[in-house]
Amino acid sequence: MITVENMMSYEIIIGLEIHVQLQTKTKIFCGCSTAFNPDHPNVQTCPVCLGLPGALPVLNERAYHLGIKTALGLNCQIAPFTKWDRKQYFYPDLPKGYQISQYDLPFSHDGHVDVTLSDEAGTATDGVRRVRILRAHLEEDAGKNMHDESGRGRESRVDLNRAGTPLVEIVTEPDLRSADEARRFLEELKLLLTYLEVSDCNMQEGSLRCDANVNLHVIQPDGTKIPTPIVEIKNLNSFRFTEQAIEYEVARQWESFQATGIRMGAKGGHKRTVGFDPNRGVTYPLREKEEAADYRYFPDPDLVPVIPDDPLLAAIRSDMVERPAVRRERFLADYQLTAYDAAVIIDQGRPVADYFEDVAKSCGDGKQAANWLTQDIQRELKERSVTIAEFPIRPPVLAAILERINKKQITIKSAREVFSTLLTDAGDAEAVPSISRIDEIIAARGLAIVQDTGAIDTAIVEVLSRSAKAIADYKSGNEKAVGALIGQVMKAVKGADPQTVREKLLAKICE
Ligand SMILES: [Zn+2]
Repeated sequence: MITVENMMSYEIIIGLEIHVQLQTKTKIFCGCSTAFNPDHPNVQTCPVCLGLPGALPVLNERAYHLGIKTALGLNCQIAPFTKWDRKQYFYPDLPKGYQISQYDLPFSHDGHVDVTLSDEAGTATDGVRRVRILRAHLEEDAGKNMHDESGRGRESRVDLNRAGTPLVEIVTEPDLRSADEARRFLEELKLLLTYLEVSDCNMQEGSLRCDANVNLHVIQPDGTKIPTPIVEIKNLNSFRFTEQAIEYEVARQWESFQATGIRMGAKGGHKRTVGFDPNRGVTYPLREKEEAADYRYFPDPDLVPVIPDDPLLAAIRSDMVERPAVRRERFLADYQLTAYDAAVIIDQGRPVADYFEDVAKSCGDGKQAANWLTQDIQRELKERSVTIAEFPIRPPVLAAILERINKKQITIKSAREVFSTLLTDAGDAEAVPSISRIDEIIAARGLAIVQDTGAIDTAIVEVLSRSAKAIADYKSGNEKAVGALIGQVMKAVKGADPQTVREKLLAKICE
């Protein structure tokens, strides 16, 4: 809520509609490929997706299954009966003159996604926003119009490779209260959909697009609220643009309300449709928004309704992987991670979280595994620009290094030396890092901690016998004096654990 000088304030009301391309090999109602192929337009087409007379659509079973998986991930109810409708409008990228979609009986409805909020500094707080999902329905994508590619301003082309690609449209209730919340919601949604492997969510290729409905509830001094007209920002293809577009719209609507006082339903409209120009950072008007009646929806007579049976739903449920929100909670309990570490690991996607869990399970030390993953490994991944799947040190090998630290066979410093030597081996000699190689490196470089306390004791006595000044310095309060003594003992007993040496040395001095 934002308060201004004249004591009026407003609430920001945001609802999102997200189109997600489902990860199928073929289109939703025909066998054409869904591969992203912009260099060869109109090669992935057939009579069905071109809308030629007499061609009949057949539902792609996998698209429906992925839709259900998506809906279950969103905590939605699955409808016991769902049907297909024709949404009719004229546009060159829609060869049939209608889009097959779902109108009054979507295949799923009434779910929710929880989003972790942040305070103004951007750090996570305990606040969680539950964003209700009104519905998720299946539909086919249109083709793509390309205008003025020649630069002469005269040519437009149509590529129908995309036409008929399966989409799930996810519609939220207007539960989001800031541009930051909208971005966080989209990040959580993308994480969920990639975890479930229902979509690659590649925004550059248009696999995830977002429309944002934005308006304000202006709060009067007496507490009554006046809604401003809703503006729908269409086709936002990045999270950053979504955030920027919403911020711009909020400022614009507030200014406009202060200047004109126009409210929802008054002259000046109920709902407007705009685009966002990221170069100028502004929204601009698009065609007036059609109302549902303008589309003359009616049931598609070429497609049978779908009635999912219990065995099918049970099979899809049993095939679901753990969702990120559930996994975050479990990591706290199973591996004693902090909420921050759990979020950092989970939010990087399933392969990173799987890697972590493999290491943590096999070395039995989640905290140590999290430290290595979020520091040493992150740094290496960034430097090498590789993904965790391409990283040469695999979980069992990292776990073996961590185990040797925990068993006090090597120090953390030596572990880092082993780690970087394995990486150098992998780079220079293309040697696959292995557990036996770890032990070779430890032996060859004398990194093993000497467990022979007799040798350490002997060295301590010997060093102390010729260090009267350092002992006196230490006893008179100069703690640093002991560092040099530790160094001398370590030199005498190569591989001694510095912590053990320190403890024994101090005990001896204070005898
Ligand atoms: Zn086709």
